[in-house]
Amino acid sequence: MTDNTSFSLSCVVPVFNEGPVIAEFLEALQPRLQEITPNYEIIVVDDGSQDNTVQLVENYCDGQHIKLIELSRNFGKETALTAGIDAAESDAVILIDADFQHPLDMLQVFVDHWRQGYQMVYGVRQSRHSESYLKKKGAQFFYQIMHHSTGINVPAHAGDFRLMDRVVVEALKSMPERNRFMKGIYAWVGYKTIGLPFEVQDRKAGESGWGFAKLASLAISGITAFTTLPLRIVGGLGLLISMVSMLYAFFIIFKTLFLGAPLPGWPTVVVAITFIGGIQLLSLWVLGEYISGIFNEVKQRPKYLIQRQLGFNKKQ
Ligand code: UDP
Ligand code: MG
Repeated sequence: MTDNTSFSLSCVVPVFNEGPVIAEFLEALQPRLQEITPNYEIIVVDDGSQDNTVQLVENYCDGQHIKLIELSRNFGKETALTAGIDAAESDAVILIDADFQHPLDMLQVFVDHWRQGYQMVYGVRQSRHSESYLKKKGAQFFYQIMHHSTGINVPAHAGDFRLMDRVVVEALKSMPERNRFMKGIYAWVGYKTIGLPFEVQDRKAGESGWGFAKLASLAISGITAFTTLPLRIVGGLGLLISMVSMLYAFFIIFKTLFLGAPLPGWPTVVVAITFIGGIQLLSLWVLGEYISGIFNEVKQRPKYLIQRQLGFNKKQ
């Protein structure tokens, strides 16, 4: 199905300090897309790089195939992707990392599946051997919570490497939230979807910015953006503790009435106070997560700010 040239394709590439690889990446990507359709565009979104990434990309901006959106600072990959998706106008949009971890061979396969009628085609990582035990278990736990509490199936081992039909792109664009937890958003919109396995490649150069703390924080904002289960857990915990303390109260009344009251144990009091205090602080934290989510949404700030656009014909 490579002969069909009647469709257009946008490829969104978020970059953050990718100086060591970006030129090589664009050189490699261009012929691949050309093979698929001559009607393609590559939208490089610079996410506030501090190195020479922008200058390197500028050299490739020919006003036709390669375009650059320069964000005003580092907004994070998910927001950079949003900026690229907003700017893309083709029939299908592909999201791909600039570090060669997403194999270019998959592009043709993605497009073939899209032409067969799938509206979203995503890559599923086959091996995660390079990741630590803690990261793997953490990820597993996270997907289970997401699945059981939201009912939407966020596929594990699927990332941003995907192709989306125009219908899906418009659906994404219609979602106004500032908290762009993309994995959840992709799953939430639905549509005819298929996951295809691919082998993650090693990063060519530079380094990944995802430490455990950043991942944990992403997981928390993902969960609070998609489910109120933690609030229910807090509620349930409160109910349970009140019931236990009520039983204990009856027990003490009973004991005092019928057996007399020996010296009451103050350790019980201390343990009860600290325990309840801990639970209360935890509950406040959970509430706080939701309130900060609301706070960030009600401010209605733009999702990102663009410093400069290169290679786009239309003026915004
Ligand atoms: N990236 C970005 N903004 C960031 C961090 C990363 O646009 O704040 C880009 C990065 O240049 C790369 C892609 O997102 O093209 C994936 O990043 P990375 O390789 O660091 O993540 P990982 O592969 O470990 O998920
Ligand atoms: Mg990477």
